[in-house]
Amino acid sequence: MTRLVLLDQALRLHDNPLLFSGTADNNNGDATGQNPQQLVAVVCLDKAAYFSRQYGLQRANLQRLQQQLQLIDHTAQALEQFDIGLITLFGEPATEISTLARSLQVTDILAATPHGYREQQTIALLSERFAVTTLDINSLLGSAELAPELPRLPDSFSAFRKQREPLLLVTAALPPFQPQPGQQWLTPVETAPFSESFMQLAPFRQTSLSAGSSEQQALQRLNDYIWQHAAISHYKTSRNGLLGDYYASKFSAALATGSLSVRFCWQQIVQFEQQQLTNESTYWLKFELLWREFFRWQFRKYGKSWFSKNAIKGPLDFSKPSLNNKQQLKFNNWCAGQSGVPFIDANMRLLNASGLMSNRGRQNVASYLIHDLGIDWRLGAAYFEQRLLDYDVASNWGNWSYIAGSGNSGERQFNVIKQAISYDSNGDFVRAMLPELSASGSLIHRPAAHVTVPGHWHNWLAKLTGPGQ
Ligand SMILES: Cc1cc2nc3c(=O)[nH]c(=O)nc-3n(C[C@H](O)[C@H](O)[C@H](O)COP(=O)(O)OP(=O)(O)OC[C@H]3O[C@@H](n4cnc5c(N)ncnc54)[C@H](O)[C@@H]3O)c2cc1C
Repeated sequence: MTRLVLLDQALRLHDNPLLFSGTADNNNGDATGQNPQQLVAVVCLDKAAYFSRQYGLQRANLQRLQQQLQLIDHTAQALEQFDIGLITLFGEPATEISTLARSLQVTDILAATPHGYREQQTIALLSERFAVTTLDINSLLGSAELAPELPRLPDSFSAFRKQREPLLLVTAALPPFQPQPGQQWLTPVETAPFSESFMQLAPFRQTSLSAGSSEQQALQRLNDYIWQHAAISHYKTSRNGLLGDYYASKFSAALATGSLSVRFCWQQIVQFEQQQLTNESTYWLKFELLWREFFRWQFRKYGKSWFSKNAIKGPLDFSKPSLNNKQQLKFNNWCAGQSGVPFIDANMRLLNASGLMSNRGRQNVASYLIHDLGIDWRLGAAYFEQRLLDYDVASNWGNWSYIAGSGNSGERQFNVIKQAISYDSNGDFVRAMLPELSASGSLIHRPAAHVTVPGHWHNWLAKLTGPGQ
């Protein structure tokens, strides 16, 4: 018997029940109840998710591809220490995995339970061909006792939180993986010949690390943010920051790629509360992790609908968003951080340079694109998908449709000038990102002369002032 252990979205050694497969102690996650003779670790990079286009936009930029390749390399090295090989595949996942499974005479497959539509399709296709077991290792509510019933899952976050939060005694995380008695993994020498297709990606590999590109880096950040800097203790008041290292956790890239276990993260917060301090801020970080959780389950409930023009609220319409010439120009300028609205441009240039943007920034640039420029929200979501190093299908498309009013909320329109005054009152963030602007104080937020100013901004534009005024 050979079991294929699929490590997609599970490239980590801490709290990874998939790696405890085949051990005598089934409590460690061997939900299959069978002990295979042979285990083989596999990861597949989905070619279409990185190299295809949607609405004319490349799905992932080089930075995001490189981050994923680094994460795969790091995991392969970590497993190699235990003489375990990692087969790396590249192509259409169901096809690549099936071909490999047949050539290795695999009897069953163990994988992380997906939340994205595409990944769910892959598991469904594999299930037609092999015995597949999935474990929900990246959710807080992943255990059978906590998992919501999808048909009864509330569509409002508040209702979801009220229903699920009281249950949240998150199950204990597993210790870091060590090879277990009785486990027999294929070794690096044995797995090497199966990773040929992945070699095509060699030209894209690079050595310098970006956020979320190794498990070690993710665990260091967790330790640094919660324990060393105790920055969690001011999370609620600083989380609307725009720039800097400690205004928010920056766990998102590691949580999105799966190199950080959300269960472990939650338990570290609880431990901090028990040993150091419990306050509104420590609660609020857990509250935000519940937002992540909410969107994951929403994606399981509504699947493909999330990519329709009206998302979960209307007739399905998967037609490509259309833009006239004027809108195309506005969209291009928005992407490039050249809209002429300083607060928007500063955030977009930060995204383009770093692959990240604060939550406050994301809400504003999304609202501006949808409600002030009148552009289909799916184009914004697609551009974010290409750029974000913390790209997660549910958090991204869920938040975009939320602001558009086609998801779990009515329309959310932000007044960009009011927001700029509230969150960048002296214009320091804009000044840091747009050095070409020289206006002093909050006057720096004044839009360029060519911008068509939305009516609801006028009162707020009148409040912009120079320093000390
Ligand atoms: C238009 C738009 C698109 C977004 N796209 C993504 C995305 O692709 N991937 C992503 O992880 N987040 C996304 N978010 C949510 C949020 O902006 C980021 O999670 C957050 O800014 C990441 O920084 P952080 O880790 O410092 O977050 P913190 O403020 O420290 O929050 C802790 C964690 O909670 C979760 N979280 C926080 N806010 C949200 C939220 N609104 N929705 C879902 N989860 C949340 C994240 O996992 C985050 O790491 C998006 C928000 C908007 C408005």
